[in-house]
Amino acid sequence: MTEKEIKQSLLRQLPAVDQVLEAAKQDPFLKDTSRAILVRCVRSVVEKLRTDIIADKKKIPASRLSHSSLLENIKTAVTDLLSPNLIRTVNATGIIVHTNLGRSMLCTEAIDHMIAIAGRYSNLEYDLALGKRGSRYACVEDMICELCGSQAALVVNNNAGAVFLGLETIAKNKKVIISRGELVEIGGSFRIPDVMAKSGAILKEVGTTNRTHLSDYESAIEADTGLLLKVHKSNYAIEGFTAEVSLRMLVELGEKYTLPVMEDLGSGTLIDFSKYGLLKEPTVQESVSSGADIVTFSGDKLLGGPQAGIIVGKKDPLEQIKKNPLTRALRVDKLTFAALESTLSLYRDEKIAIASIPTLRMLTLPLEMIENKAKQLAELLAGLKEPKLSYTFLQLTSRAGGGALPYLTVPTVCLGIKIHKISANSIEKFMRGNSPPIIGRLENDLFIMDLRTILEDELSIIKTAFANLLNKA
Ligand SMILES: *Cc1c(COP(=O)(O)O)cnc(C)c1O
Repeated sequence: MTEKEIKQSLLRQLPAVDQVLEAAKQDPFLKDTSRAILVRCVRSVVEKLRTDIIADKKKIPASRLSHSSLLENIKTAVTDLLSPNLIRTVNATGIIVHTNLGRSMLCTEAIDHMIAIAGRYSNLEYDLALGKRGSRYACVEDMICELCGSQAALVVNNNAGAVFLGLETIAKNKKVIISRGELVEIGGSFRIPDVMAKSGAILKEVGTTNRTHLSDYESAIEADTGLLLKVHKSNYAIEGFTAEVSLRMLVELGEKYTLPVMEDLGSGTLIDFSKYGLLKEPTVQESVSSGADIVTFSGDKLLGGPQAGIIVGKKDPLEQIKKNPLTRALRVDKLTFAALESTLSLYRDEKIAIASIPTLRMLTLPLEMIENKAKQLAELLAGLKEPKLSYTFLQLTSRAGGGALPYLTVPTVCLGIKIHKISANSIEKFMRGNSPPIIGRLENDLFIMDLRTILEDELSIIKTAFANLLNKA
């Protein structure tokens, strides 16, 4: 037979969709699958086979046309189609606010509140006392003001949106003065100069990368200046011969020339971490009490809540922002409010916040507790009695992360894994493909897991994954 004849014979043997569908309905696994999904998967499997035969990439063996092989493929297709793409992962990277892994985990209180609100109607925009339309922001505004010491507050989709909205409202077509040392890029696509350009504000950079003085700001002020902007250098730091103008000094300058001052705090924290032996980060309360007109920060970085951009500050500029039609485009939904309200309310007692908000708990976790988890995991792995697997305890550092806080690092304990005849690269790949995926890192040909960001109940998941890896090898 010529190649063409073989192909044609295979195509003739290809069963009809209806025929496969009948067979699938008899299959114990597939019989409960909804008809729409089954039809779709049967079609795609048969169609794939047809294109494979025509393309003849891998010399299709006749066995691939058998009912049992087809049914296997249909089962895989159904399973793939029905399983979500967004799935939980185990964060073994030690980066607490890991943007790629969903930033902050929510506290139980926030999750419970979201569940309570999600499946029911709510008073999201309804004033129960007056029996008429109310403000969407009412549920959190007072609490944010109370915690931050601000006159007003607003919540939008994220901090990038908050910065954009602040600039668009206050400084469109006006000059915004910012230090050259603060023209930062955060993560993939947030660059202060680009955001500014999009908002219609005109960038007026002053000073140098390492040193900017008050006189630099002052001599740049012109008739069309609309705002003095300060941006927290979230993800880098300048060391050595440096000078920076404090927010308070900028506020004084702003008062002298009746110019508003805005600060993008980036991560933003309500807690002074220096109390917990960590590096001092400016708190939101400090920025507000410095007299800034507008302060913006993220909801899901060090605050430990849902994705959101929180804008706090003085009444007048916040009123202006609230009236900006773009605010509607950046508004947050009821689930965000539910999670944010519950998270924020824990901050009324700092001890409770530290103990209950996962991001804060992980950041302040005592080294002994991390060490204990490392020992537990080591014991579980030793229990596998696999001579090929060996581990070492490593004293490394965890990072706060979130494109935030370069120096906010904390000592931690990691477990470095080596498996005879399996490269660290292969271990990493296998763990990434595990269900749930376990995301660690590679260093010196070791697969490294930082116990700071691994939860107690994830230790057995890791053990099972290693057992499966070794079984397969
Ligand atoms: C992270 C960050 C942003 C962006 O915040 P999102 O909440 O991710 O939109 C903006 N500015 C600074 C300084 C940041 O650190």
